[in-house]
Amino acid sequence: MTQPPPLKNDCFALPPGVEWTPVDEALDLLNERLTSVTGQEVISPMAALGRVLAAPVTAARAHPPHANCAVDGYALTGAAFGEGVHEVPLVTGRSAAGQPFAGRVPDTHAVRVLTGANLPDGTDTVILQEDVSLQDGKVAFHGPLKTGSNARKRGEDVSEGTALFPSGHRLTPADLGLLAATGVSEVSVRKPLRVAVISTGDELAEVGSAASPDQIYDANRPMLLAAIQQLGYVPIDMGRIPDQRALLTQALQEAASKADVILTSGGASAGDEDHMSALLNETGTMALWRIAIKPGRPLALGMWDGTPVFGLPGNPVAAMVCTLVFARPVMRVLAGQSWALPAGTMLPAAFHKSKKAGRREYLRARVRNGAVEVFASEGSGRISGLSWAEGLVELSDAAQEITPGTPVKFVSYSDFGL
Ligand code: AMP
Ligand code: MG
Repeated sequence: MTQPPPLKNDCFALPPGVEWTPVDEALDLLNERLTSVTGQEVISPMAALGRVLAAPVTAARAHPPHANCAVDGYALTGAAFGEGVHEVPLVTGRSAAGQPFAGRVPDTHAVRVLTGANLPDGTDTVILQEDVSLQDGKVAFHGPLKTGSNARKRGEDVSEGTALFPSGHRLTPADLGLLAATGVSEVSVRKPLRVAVISTGDELAEVGSAASPDQIYDANRPMLLAAIQQLGYVPIDMGRIPDQRALLTQALQEAASKADVILTSGGASAGDEDHMSALLNETGTMALWRIAIKPGRPLALGMWDGTPVFGLPGNPVAAMVCTLVFARPVMRVLAGQSWALPAGTMLPAAFHKSKKAGRREYLRARVRNGAVEVFASEGSGRISGLSWAEGLVELSDAAQEITPGTPVKFVSYSDFGL
């Protein structure tokens, strides 16, 4: 198994003097500094659904591998039969799928063929069985015939050696069909990216437990673990950790040993109980990114024992937005995929908004009757809006006066891969 080189300890460092980093600059830095961290292995296409290719794949054989019949009928030499009615004797035998006709068919004869059968030597055209009448070992039909009709040429779909997929491509069910059909018996793939999720906060109660009035349920963990799974990575649940450095240290230690990247939520700013940023600071690898984004708060990035850590904001709306906007493209790269941001779709707004200059904004949104609606409140604690929404509206950094009909960029959850 090949193991890529480790990431640099200062991969998250910001250029000095920058106050609020624009989203695009932050993304460019991540794109520049991060590389794949997953090892490689060779497996059968049978086991390769969702896996990321570590090397390009070419077709090992043509598809179809031999000229074959597209219908049930009679094969003959098309050019031998012009205008008019023809009565053509059949040779003995037939060609069926997997059971080819052994001999050569003379120009003056036809042969019984079934769908999927190899086209017998001496033939290039198939007449549908519905288009002939059969009597005394002969078929009668109207000419002329179009040479090659109802037949598939060798390699007409894919010729041998065709480039099928580039390195970094994630295999879909249809791709597995193509690999099988073109004789690919093994593929070199990345090991699945393992993503650990840690929730932090003394106030967090576990789903299903009895919560006291001073507690809230841990909403980020189920949300982030599920997002990781839908993005095609392996979620590793590291549980809830109270605001205690020793326990958090232990959890980070364990997560770094089990995962390729760690997502934590909560405690990422610079307050008394912001232990995540404090701990990352001690490693000397932390960069507290103040990104010009709403919702956001600072994003604490660092390395724990060689494993990149994303210290997401605790607020569920900000945690989700930062995951989709920043952690998602990073996880793609770490997993061996290409850097890619969702294109989104420009659609007319169904809302009013006066947007300030100097930061990017993401609003919880959905499309109804071809127009983009946004959630009634921009309150970043309103997790109900995340669920109400079917995606996000992305408003660019400049000031903008939006009225109904103004084109806005809608990025659906499915564009993000959810
Ligand atoms: P923090 O970043 O730790 O200051 O948290 C910001 C806000 O998000 C606080 O109101 C927290 O209670 C809340 N919060 C933090 N973690 C979670 C979580 N896992 N689930 C739901 N809310 C959270
Ligand atoms: Mg907290």
